[in-house]
Amino acid sequence: MSDIRVLVSGASIAGPALAHWLRRRGAEVTVVEQAPGLRPGGQAVDARGVAKEVIRRMGIDEAVRAACTDTAGAYTVDADGNVLETFRAEDDGGDGYISEIEILRGDFSRVLYDDTSDSVEYVFGDRIAELTQDADGVDVAFASGDRRRFELVIGADGLHSALRAMVFGPREQFVRHLGLVLAFYTVPNEFGLDRWLLDYQEAGRSAGLRPVRDATRAIAMLSFPAPDFDIDHRDIEAQKRLLRERMAGFGWLTPRILDHLDDTPDFYLDQVAQVVMDRWSSGRVGLLGDAAFSASPMSGAGTGLALVGAYMLAGELAAADWDPAAGFAGYQERMRSYVEANQEIGRMHVHMLAAPDPGAEPSPEPDPDAMTALIERAVNGPELPDYEHVPDYGTTTGRPPTPAARS
Ligand SMILES: Cc1cc2nc3c(=O)[nH]c(=O)nc-3n(C[C@H](O)[C@H](O)[C@H](O)COP(=O)(O)OP(=O)(O)OC[C@H]3O[C@@H](n4cnc5c(N)ncnc54)[C@H](O)[C@@H]3O)c2cc1C
Repeated sequence: MSDIRVLVSGASIAGPALAHWLRRRGAEVTVVEQAPGLRPGGQAVDARGVAKEVIRRMGIDEAVRAACTDTAGAYTVDADGNVLETFRAEDDGGDGYISEIEILRGDFSRVLYDDTSDSVEYVFGDRIAELTQDADGVDVAFASGDRRRFELVIGADGLHSALRAMVFGPREQFVRHLGLVLAFYTVPNEFGLDRWLLDYQEAGRSAGLRPVRDATRAIAMLSFPAPDFDIDHRDIEAQKRLLRERMAGFGWLTPRILDHLDDTPDFYLDQVAQVVMDRWSSGRVGLLGDAAFSASPMSGAGTGLALVGAYMLAGELAAADWDPAAGFAGYQERMRSYVEANQEIGRMHVHMLAAPDPGAEPSPEPDPDAMTALIERAVNGPELPDYEHVPDYGTTTGRPPTPAARS
């Protein structure tokens, strides 16, 4: 093993996935998460194309598939519930609108945590308060008062990344609001849903319901336009008020869905936004996942980007013998086009959902060849290097390095 110590901030998707790969490349990893435990909630997240290959290489394919949602497909419906369009999970080779690997975000986070918890140090209920870099390392002061030194620090702390603000600049510099707000929460399945997701859209707003595995519960999904969004992302009561206000009068099953706002066990609401940065690193500090390059939930690719990014970041750093400048540069070069393609798709989806402006010129039809190339870049993304000359200490949780490890 190397004597490289890496601190990762955030234990959702990007953080534990990176911990897996850093560990396999020989680093000692600490993950700090400000929440008191793994955060439940969110709706389903998808892994398509190249992200499925990363899951396979992580050796967690079976655990992920066992926790998948088992969704058969999606229907778009009108206000009376009549089906307008049907999308099946097997469409587009399992990489379509409802993808073959679709897993509740909280369940996926749990799979990644279970995979790494024996070999990685997790610190819950704490966060980085301050850090100072020098040529050889980073001194970190935690909010709890602890002080420790690491060779590298990675922010996987999401769209509102505190580490990004600390090292790179205020969020306004990087976060681009796309004019939409999304909310997800669990409701009882009193709607008779089976394995099909239902989606109703009208004049820029949308409401949907997705059954979860045991069929006693469903996840409600609501969205509304909001050109300015300045609500505190931690103030749940204010968010629920806003949701009630903005979804008032919306048809289909929406009033019944809103009736469960006060008894839901989880609630997630956030602006649909992207993060655009020229560089995802500064000295010995790097960023990954939504913190670095959120493509927004409308891209359907946040998880894929986090997984592929984790593979590349650990691989490139180890291939550069943990030299931060070379490692971060390699990571950025390999990921850039994949990130940009998914961000473009995220913006297109927001645009499609927006209420048509009667006075506006109709948008030109997209060029089908250019669309195919864009989707290919967004799904199959970059080629995954094998990192043949980089150590690999195996996939099994907590197993000590084996002689089979390549070096
Ligand atoms: C509760 C929750 C629900 C979500 N629901 C959906 C959804 O339904 N659909 C969807 O497309 N995407 C959802 N997302 C976002 C989705 O998980 C990401 O787009 C994607 O998987 C990339 O994940 P990430 O790990 O980069 O960021 P995130 O999943 O946003 O995770 C960031 C993590 O960092 C932690 N954190 C934040 N600040 C600090 C700090 N200062 N110190 C330490 N830790 C910190 C957070 O608590 C969180 O665990 C959700 C995220 C969360 C946290």
